[in-house]
Amino acid sequence: MSYYTKLDDNIIICEVCPRRCHLRKGQSGFCHIRVNTGDMIELPSYGHITGLAIDPIEKKPLFHFLPSSKTLSFGTYGCNMGCKFCQNFSITKTKDSPFNLPFFEPHNVVEQALLHKCNSIAFTYNDPIVFFEYALDVAKIAKSAGLKTIAVSAGYVLSKVRKDFFSYIDAVNIDLKAFSQNFYKKNCAADIDIVLDTLKYIKKDTRCWLEITTLLIEGENDSPDEISSMCDWIVKNLGENVPLHFSAFHPAYKFLNIPATSFQTLNNAYELAKKKGVNYVYLGNVRDTKTSSTYCKNCGSLLIERDWFSVTKYNLDDFGRCNICKTPCDGFFI
Ligand code: SF4
Repeated sequence: MSYYTKLDDNIIICEVCPRRCHLRKGQSGFCHIRVNTGDMIELPSYGHITGLAIDPIEKKPLFHFLPSSKTLSFGTYGCNMGCKFCQNFSITKTKDSPFNLPFFEPHNVVEQALLHKCNSIAFTYNDPIVFFEYALDVAKIAKSAGLKTIAVSAGYVLSKVRKDFFSYIDAVNIDLKAFSQNFYKKNCAADIDIVLDTLKYIKKDTRCWLEITTLLIEGENDSPDEISSMCDWIVKNLGENVPLHFSAFHPAYKFLNIPATSFQTLNNAYELAKKKGVNYVYLGNVRDTKTSSTYCKNCGSLLIERDWFSVTKYNLDDFGRCNICKTPCDGFFI
């Protein structure tokens, strides 16, 4: 299966993401990681990773998928988004040679996960769409070893890669940067419609567990109108049971003059999303037990209490239902 098209004049078009970079021999794309090596678009830095860590799954964040289990997180470098506020820009925008980074064969990653008794492997830190061949090779071995696979992505991907990639992923957190085309164009050099289409695809055409994260940036994407429209769209197109995380921005990369998001701003979004009918809403990058805990959508009982990334109370029965009213909590708990 190839994910590129050759043109007559020695240019190859990468068809992994909507940028469709036209690359001459030796050129790398917008993402810095995919390269025209002469006859095809390849990932010359395949296997070179920027980080590998054992994390609580809550850190991805995934709150409704195997709570309090351990995941082996890893990532490479580069990204196909152009976010001016990137919180991971040291790896997504680096120009350093990837060949100085540690090398892990796919089976080495899986061995690390098993060694550290992780239940899953998470493709994270940078968007796995740009290194999806490597991620898929890891995912295939992980699955045969009984591990789950997780992706943290902006969902900016073309349909062929999307189909092939998400068929090997068990749970995903999609970063919905805002709910405005203007924000996506101005601050991410991207098109929101592609991301919304990916969200609908994951929900309707895959078996992946889906959660969404929006990094709230004051004055940029936090207006009540925008949050309200986002929630309406989510409820209408994905249903009311997709967990929605609002996360605090910290000044980074090209957004150094915008202050860190206040708790009040986050909490306003939390209250509004609840009012709009989203059943599971969370705040991230702040320590607040109330807004990082899960409540029964039927009776309102506390189901899972969290303190940062730790689960401190667990009130689901063996079937993943509320201990009080027996309503199932959406997600994978067993
Ligand atoms: S994956 Fe990279 S090289 Fe391919 S189209 Fe997207 S930005 Fe360009």
